[in-house]
Amino acid sequence: MVPLALWCCRLWALSEQVKVTKKLNGQEKQIRKMGKGEHFGELALIREILRTATCTAVGPVTCFSIDKEVFEETIPIEHLELHDDISSKVLEEPDAPEKTSPSSYLRLKDLIPVLYQEGRYQGEPVTLGVGGFGRVELVTTLHHGKYFAMKRVSKKHIVAKRQEEHVLFEKRILKAIKSDFIVRLHSAFKDTRYIYMIMEFCVGGEIWTKLKEVGRFDEPIAVFCAACVVEAYAYLHKKGIMYRDLKPENLMLDAKGYVKLVDFGFAKELVHGNKTYSFCGTPEYMAPEIIQNQGHDFAADFWSLGILVYELLVGSPPFSSSEPAKIYPKILDGVLKFPPYMGEGAKSLISKLCRPRPGQRLGNTKNGIKDVRHHRWFSSMNWHKLRVGQVEAPTIRLIRKGPCYINFDRFPFDQALADEEFSGWDKNL
Ligand code: ATP
Ligand code: MG
Repeated sequence: MVPLALWCCRLWALSEQVKVTKKLNGQEKQIRKMGKGEHFGELALIREILRTATCTAVGPVTCFSIDKEVFEETIPIEHLELHDDISSKVLEEPDAPEKTSPSSYLRLKDLIPVLYQEGRYQGEPVTLGVGGFGRVELVTTLHHGKYFAMKRVSKKHIVAKRQEEHVLFEKRILKAIKSDFIVRLHSAFKDTRYIYMIMEFCVGGEIWTKLKEVGRFDEPIAVFCAACVVEAYAYLHKKGIMYRDLKPENLMLDAKGYVKLVDFGFAKELVHGNKTYSFCGTPEYMAPEIIQNQGHDFAADFWSLGILVYELLVGSPPFSSSEPAKIYPKILDGVLKFPPYMGEGAKSLISKLCRPRPGQRLGNTKNGIKDVRHHRWFSSMNWHKLRVGQVEAPTIRLIRKGPCYINFDRFPFDQALADEEFSGWDKNL
């Protein structure tokens, strides 16, 4: 047996069997195996840390290596399947419970509401948000002391609004998603009245609330927020998922100030090259091809990214009116008016993302999302560092310190109990 890498600073491609081992409690334990075409050493390069595991050839192996500079230049990180050997489970103990993953210990009956500690709702359960389909409440567990956001939606209401497929899809998609730029769904439960989704709690609150507080964001904050959305898009689009509901209300801040997408009620799976025809989204953020029912695809997400960048920098979206019906003609006219304080880079990016023709939109031409990342407005962004959480978030100064609900609006508790629902549409949830 030949140890292939004692110090991982290079990316290798392999053609035969390789064992990956790690020292645990003084013993070398196998954590995974690799074969032809796989790679290792990338985490050490990306995170600028020493190797986390040892790779050993168990037969003849050919390796190819590239250095850090070439790696960063040529390998788009979203094309890599990252094996986090720091947290990998040991192979010989496949059923060992993941002590750190809340999905392994969460049970509906153990979740207890967190109560307001002061103010006019003192003693009532904390509600983080109220959406079209239900409420999101703050809960915790007695033994683990972690906070979770619990989205609770009435089954009867879902059936009445014919949203069964959407809810099942939202749960299925969110459960399958593992990105630091998208809210994590730990578990889903149901009873006779509600569907419950137990999500990671984004303690920093909504970007929308922060934007209203300060009026408009300065450029470094807007660049950072938009860059997080670009990373979420890169992840989703690669999986063939359109998001379709970008807006500041659906962007949340975590404790580090990183931005995460929430609310996958409008997300849809689409084969690249196909189009879909559903009319959905928020009027101010809708792409012209959705309004005209011409069929839309991933390009519609890039349009709404342009609208978001505008709204973050200005405080209101470029096409707006108190009457939704008056918004659509403005979008179709497509005349963008920029305030004098907006920088040239931002104007250029927004104009390129909000091109009327989807085929000419930045992000949707032959280089894909890379063109967005390489746009000069993002020139200060270190994308590799962002992906691994090493960029210091300028948004952190927007997050208030105090009780865990301090970054959220307050809502009175809703005592009403939803009606029971027994049709069984949720049997596979
Ligand atoms: P919508 O009317 O937007 O479709 P919805 O019923 O689908 O609403 P969400 O948008 O998922 O619900 O959530 C409503 C609000 O609850 C959010 O805008 C946010 O304020 C809060 N919220 C949602 N998820 C979380 C979370 N993981 N952490 C903290 N707050 C959250
Ligand atoms: Mg929402």
